[in-house]
Amino acid sequence: MNNALTILGSSSAIPTKTRNTTAQFLLFQSDKILIDCGEACINRLVRYKLPFDQIKYIFISHLHTDHILGLPGLLGSFALRNREKPLTIFSPQGLQEIIEPLVGPTMVQPYELNWQVVDTTVSQVILDENDYTVSTIPLAHRVPTAGFLFREKVKPPNVKKEAIQKYNLSIDQIKALKEGKEIFDTSGQMMDSQTLLIPPQPAKSYAFCSDTMYLESIIHHVKGVDLLYYEATYLHELKDLAKARGHATAYEAALTAQKAQVKKLLMGHFSTRYTDMTAHELEAQQVFANSFAVEDGHTYEV
Ligand SMILES: [Zn+2]
Ligand SMILES: [Zn+2]
Repeated sequence: MNNALTILGSSSAIPTKTRNTTAQFLLFQSDKILIDCGEACINRLVRYKLPFDQIKYIFISHLHTDHILGLPGLLGSFALRNREKPLTIFSPQGLQEIIEPLVGPTMVQPYELNWQVVDTTVSQVILDENDYTVSTIPLAHRVPTAGFLFREKVKPPNVKKEAIQKYNLSIDQIKALKEGKEIFDTSGQMMDSQTLLIPPQPAKSYAFCSDTMYLESIIHHVKGVDLLYYEATYLHELKDLAKARGHATAYEAALTAQKAQVKKLLMGHFSTRYTDMTAHELEAQQVFANSFAVEDGHTYEV
């Protein structure tokens, strides 16, 4: 799997026997990424044998405790293990001020730790890597909250090996073809580049939306993504309670997926009043067939 998402927690504010609070480990274009960090997140990372020392970026959606309480423990573990690799944490304003006193002045982080504040009111690119970008998705919750959109960059096409041999293509010609330029054969005839190229794989994308109530503007931001994670704290019979608490229902998650024409929907952040998520899946699948309730410890391909 090139890109893979492992669920570390899919319960809402309180953990259950089988579900921890929100956290996800994302392998994206060989980078190791943590999304949200509910309490005892380090415990889940160890249990699922994930390479947590290699986490390069942490993205925190908002400052509710069920999304950040695992950070002191995780940063403490990094310090104790003499981590050297730099770490960048993206979050809404205020996270550094909460976490640093908890980690304590005695536990100096022996590596470069960068705190990046994100604006939760606009969608903008906050990370531009060689082969992917990360953008914010403004969400509607009780406190400033951002979702995150991970999108691969489109790779240049490859030139067919047989074509290189058959036409004895030079390095400059191969480079020109990859850049979409025209090339000419020895007689000066323009060559048909389409027969020489292997088209690139489509760029993959993953959108993380938790916590949020139903919001039409999200649809535009997650249009056509390969994988959408959307919170479904409640079933739709509790839609008024969901709205009052800044949360969504399984029906609303599916409606977002259907309107945005995504390829697959994962639902999580379940209220502890539910022990079996079959009803969530049935409710969602009536609107958007490719809907699933996540389980802690499961890995999903992006
Ligand atoms: Zn939450
Ligand atoms: Zn919240």
